Amino acid sequence: MLDSPIEYLKGVGPQRGELLRSELGIATFSDLLLHFPFRYIDRSRFHTVREIVATHEELQQVQLRGRISAPRAVGEKQSRRLTATFTDATGSLELIWFKGVKWIQQAIKPGEEYVVFGRPGSFKGKVNLPHPELELASVWDSGIESALQPVYSTTEKLAARGLTSRAIWKLQKALLPQIGGLLPETLGPEQVRWLGGITREEAFRQVHAPSDEHRMELARRRLKFEELFFIQLGLLRQKQITQQRSRGHVFAQVGEHLNSFHAKHLPFELTGAQKRVVKEIRRDMGSGRQMNRLLQGDVGSGKTLVGLLSMLIALDNGFQSALMAPTEILAQQHHATLTRLLGGMPVTVRLLTGSTKQAERKSILAALAMGQVHIIVGTHALLEDRVVFDKLGLVVIDEQHRFGVAQRARLWAKSEVPPHVLVMTATPIPRTLAMTLYGDLDTSVIDELPPGRKPIRTVHRFDTARNAVFGFLEEEIAKGRQVYVVYPLIEESEKSDLKHVMDGFESLSRRFPLPRYAVGMVHGRMDNTTKDFEMTRFKKGETSILVSTTVIEVGVDVPNASVMVIENAERFGLSQLHQLRGRVGRGAEQSFCILMTGDRLGNDARERIATMVRTNDGFEIAETDLRLRGPGDLLGTQQSGLPQLRIADLIADAELLQQARSAAQRVLDADPGLSAPAHAPIARTVRERKEMEWGRIS
Ligand code: ADP
Ligand code: MG
Repeated sequence: MLDSPIEYLKGVGPQRGELLRSELGIATFSDLLLHFPFRYIDRSRFHTVREIVATHEELQQVQLRGRISAPRAVGEKQSRRLTATFTDATGSLELIWFKGVKWIQQAIKPGEEYVVFGRPGSFKGKVNLPHPELELASVWDSGIESALQPVYSTTEKLAARGLTSRAIWKLQKALLPQIGGLLPETLGPEQVRWLGGITREEAFRQVHAPSDEHRMELARRRLKFEELFFIQLGLLRQKQITQQRSRGHVFAQVGEHLNSFHAKHLPFELTGAQKRVVKEIRRDMGSGRQMNRLLQGDVGSGKTLVGLLSMLIALDNGFQSALMAPTEILAQQHHATLTRLLGGMPVTVRLLTGSTKQAERKSILAALAMGQVHIIVGTHALLEDRVVFDKLGLVVIDEQHRFGVAQRARLWAKSEVPPHVLVMTATPIPRTLAMTLYGDLDTSVIDELPPGRKPIRTVHRFDTARNAVFGFLEEEIAKGRQVYVVYPLIEESEKSDLKHVMDGFESLSRRFPLPRYAVGMVHGRMDNTTKDFEMTRFKKGETSILVSTTVIEVGVDVPNASVMVIENAERFGLSQLHQLRGRVGRGAEQSFCILMTGDRLGNDARERIATMVRTNDGFEIAETDLRLRGPGDLLGTQQSGLPQLRIADLIADAELLQQARSAAQRVLDADPGLSAPAHAPIARTVRERKEMEWGRIS
């Protein structure tokens, strides 16, 4: 019954059915049930016309009782509209519709008593009610189950055909009497009890036709929990399966390379957090199971070193490692860093990127296949099929937000026993997102910066203050410091933005002329040799100002650079700003970040800038970013691999998410095969959902 096409529901029919399908994706009865209200209005409260005229600016949603007269269509084409007069005991106001004129005009019964809902507006100083929803008072009086009326999302097109939020509610109420016994329980008795005893069927009834606020809230909570619970259960089972199925290489030795690096080559003490994380990684890699670990750490917390130590453990056990970076610049830098740190040790490190010359590529690939290369550093080029290893034991993926399950799977294909995988994030990800996106991974956190770092001082300056900013740069450069000046280049192909970088380079070169100063430039449209040359000059201190686009966004490490100027800072996202700022503050000197903007800022931009000025804490910034942008935008919905949520919200329901995950973990711990009678509903739901997915794929 619940799979019936939506047009068979009373009050729908073929035309509206087609609209519901195309506009809201509601194709069946059960799709309609899953179209949840996004809020509720209190129907016990009535307003009067007088009250609305006096206070309409503060009122979101009003409900009136009165009569409608003189409906008439006026205007032509674009300005065609329907107006009518609404009158109650206290006065009159105008009702107005711009869409569905004909349909509504026919439906209105002048002189009858109506209940009218809407959000008041005004036109030329006169208060009106645009696109109100109407119901005959007689019908309204007979249809009150509760004071709470659900509000459903709809579209203009649907509303024009009479499928307003209220009409959708009516459809729900036509469907509810028929669902008895059709919505079997999906959770076990223990979970249901914990959720206040609301069964699945009751939950659906309560969200669409609440009996009272308390039960409605419980029902919503139950449905949200259920949604999150099955996602987490899926991730945790995935983890369970990976752990059972894939034996991992056992790295039992703490050998020579790690020891001698630690004793003779490590330029500083590891932080407590680094030590702890290396221990976690070592335990994983020695356990006989494949490691799948996410390493979170703020910008500058020293993730690279953790990656290197892990790779040395692999080497001590006779295995090769791969270190994968998201950009060429970063791959080059890692290659240079590792080569420097490992200088004098018998460890062969090679670099392989898209721009490695043919002949060199050939020799690297051959050496790799013979096991003569111990550590290979590169970009996504390392994933290509022709990259063959002798004994690949560990893959470290640096600065990635979006290295999803599919990409990880490609790596596993590279050897019979899958290599251990360590994913290091670019910026901290809010906990709830990490849990959903990387819920099948173990997580380590570096929550401590290396000692002696001074917090970066961040300020906001308007473009008009540029001269003063330049004066400040002069002073810093005089102290021997170096400066980044970054311009937004959101898409590397955007020529107009490229112009900004060029202009910036020219004006800075004029303001900071040779021979006293040297200004360099990097951007994504340069060939790699030039980029490389420019980066190296800056690294060596031969240039004191580096003008660049966001190609330096992640990972670039020049400790002597202590000032980061970001032009058009309002055009960057928060985590991007945080990443860019993280390019400075890497040495012992006081570092600065100067956010330059125009003087007109939108609300979001203002909050982003204020957040940056207020805090250096990447975890806090990530949370704010999530709140401002929502999970889809934060990660890019397409690639993110985030599941679509119908009722739960990763931001608002963070606590419930944690509870759902713990509950799923408890169930799996007690009953890994989901075979206990109490878990039968859960097992059945998992099975059905899997079948549904297969159905969709094949
Ligand atoms: P991120 O976590 O952003 O990748 P990096 O690995 O680039 O950070 O490290 C940032 C800087 O801190 C580098 O210059 C690195 O050499 C230095 N560093 C790393 N660990 C320590 C430590 N324990 N003590 C002092 N400096 C360290
Ligand atoms: Mg890094």
